[in-house]
Amino acid sequence: MTVEAEPAAAAASPETRPFSADVAQLLRLMVHSVYSNRDVFLRELVSNAADACEKLRYAALTDAGLLGDDAAFEIIVAVDSDAGTLTVSDNGIGMSRDELVDNLGTIARSGTRAFVEAIADQAAGKSESSALIGQFGVGFYSAFMVAKTVTVTSRRAGSDEAWTWSSDGSGSFTIAPAGDDAPARGTRVVLELADDAREFADEDEVERIVRAHCAHIPVPIAVLKAGADARRTLVDGSALWTKPKASVTEAEYRDFYTYVSGDPAEPALTVHFRAEGRTEYSVLAFVPSQKPFDLFDPDRRGRIKLYVRRVFITDEAPLLPAWLRFVRGVVDSEDLPLNLSREMLQSNPVLEAIRRGLTGRILTDLEKLAEKEPERFTGIWEAFGAVIKEGLYEEPDRRDGLFKIARFRTSSTPDGWRSLAEVLAGARENQTAIYYLLGDSAEGVKASPHLEGYRARGIEVLLLTDPVDAFWVQTALGYEGKPFRSVTQGAADLELIPLTGEAAADDDPARPADVAVLVALLKERLGERVSDVRTSARLAESPVCLVAPEFGPDRQLEKLLARGRSQACTVKPVLELNPRNGLVKALAKRAAAGGAGEAVTDAAHLLYAQARILEGELPEDPADFARRLDRLIAAGVGSAES
Ligand code: ADP
Ligand code: MG
Repeated sequence: MTVEAEPAAAAASPETRPFSADVAQLLRLMVHSVYSNRDVFLRELVSNAADACEKLRYAALTDAGLLGDDAAFEIIVAVDSDAGTLTVSDNGIGMSRDELVDNLGTIARSGTRAFVEAIADQAAGKSESSALIGQFGVGFYSAFMVAKTVTVTSRRAGSDEAWTWSSDGSGSFTIAPAGDDAPARGTRVVLELADDAREFADEDEVERIVRAHCAHIPVPIAVLKAGADARRTLVDGSALWTKPKASVTEAEYRDFYTYVSGDPAEPALTVHFRAEGRTEYSVLAFVPSQKPFDLFDPDRRGRIKLYVRRVFITDEAPLLPAWLRFVRGVVDSEDLPLNLSREMLQSNPVLEAIRRGLTGRILTDLEKLAEKEPERFTGIWEAFGAVIKEGLYEEPDRRDGLFKIARFRTSSTPDGWRSLAEVLAGARENQTAIYYLLGDSAEGVKASPHLEGYRARGIEVLLLTDPVDAFWVQTALGYEGKPFRSVTQGAADLELIPLTGEAAADDDPARPADVAVLVALLKERLGERVSDVRTSARLAESPVCLVAPEFGPDRQLEKLLARGRSQACTVKPVLELNPRNGLVKALAKRAAAGGAGEAVTDAAHLLYAQARILEGELPEDPADFARRLDRLIAAGVGSAES
């Protein structure tokens, strides 16, 4: 090969470049850690090759010239046991010089950092780490688990230049013009195997791995042994999703799931169907059994791959609502045009119909699973319930369906999961609402005094601790005619529901007249701090609690909103007294007897501070709180001495 023009000559000289810091760190891990399952490197290289073929198949729709006279895509894995090499070649889209430099070493990819952090986190679980490689989009570098050197020679489709990238994984790589044996199109990745990895230069070994991990890649894969005259096809590259459900085995589904998700575990739910009628499409989608690392990363693409009549189009089409963003899989449309532009992706009636159909189908399948295999469904809910609940306010039309599958921790089942139907079935007579308690943590809500009066009446309260809960309860109108009502807001309306059990047996509240005096006194002493003071049936043991006024936001929602704006809550709470509490009874008696001295003022402030502390807040004036508490303790200690 001769180098002629000036600028080309400059670009043509070999150049050594450092890896980006993230990649260098990742490579150190790949080279120096011992992974229990090194097989995955081959799956990663083969799936990159398949991606490259699918990209070219798509690009050729608008530029047929790119294919030249080689329109049959193929991935070849060649082994040479004497030389100790393994080579993965494809005739896909290829990479230009800049793409080699960017994609294989310098552009920081979000998954790289996340992967390094994830394995640093679980230093013990090496086997887990190799399972993470595919999910984090760092597949190429897994070649360094088995190779001393990796050499990538690539020619971008339609280009007359070819380039060679090579590295031993220690800090830098070299980029140089390729020799005469460069592929006519696409990429060749040559691994010079490390001494402890020479077993991979074996035809049978390659066959085993390809059959185990690459069986459903939609591009044909062949193996070629050095010295043999012909390659042997291992995978025919047919599209699994187009096959009838009855002819696909569990193992085939699992392999395909791994191919689309990078997750080697089993999916928790497989949704495979063909829609016929106005819009025709096939779907093969999966709900993972564990959270993908990017569950809360809105930019990560590749969740659902869109094909049009078996041609891969894009993994950026909006085929699922955000609240199903953990679903992975493939949609293959019969109706869309092959030259689907970016603009068409954003608003397209066919895509819209598919999105509706797919969403509805996933919901129904989840509902069926919840009925037939409640344990498996619970696993899904534990991993993704917080995300699914976003649908409750994002898609009001789906609310009824979502309420069927939603599961909740409740005051009577704080460690299990209850459906709304179950909660409703257990409602007490005269119970007019489905009650809920919002909070930050399961521990916090379980111990909340606000639940006491509901517990004492055998009313089951939903315990809502996901941030999204504060939002959907505001907009959801109710379930089966019963509104949702916060136990920390407004009047408790519990008087019509009788106490049960022990609470009913020794029910001995303070005299209403005495309590009225105490209430008036507290209102006066607390002044502006509270919007009202009143008694309530909400409490059964604790002396006091704070609730939000009838109209306006719930206190938990206000806290969440205030956190974002770093400003304090502005709505003044209501202080509620428990007329059944011993301390309140004593105070009421003393107040009614005219003994409202300093001690009662201290008590007023301390009770208010206590109510705040129970909600995880500081007393408004900690110094004042300490002074009053000291005084009370001193009096207590003094009286004990005398
Ligand atoms: P991912 O496949 O998740 O993007 P990888 O680390 O496996 O991550 O690959 C990095 C990038 O390198 C790919 O996104 C692609 O752009 C490029 N690449 C890797 N292998 C090939 C190949 N055989 N042909 C073309 N491009 C490739
Ligand atoms: Mg990859």
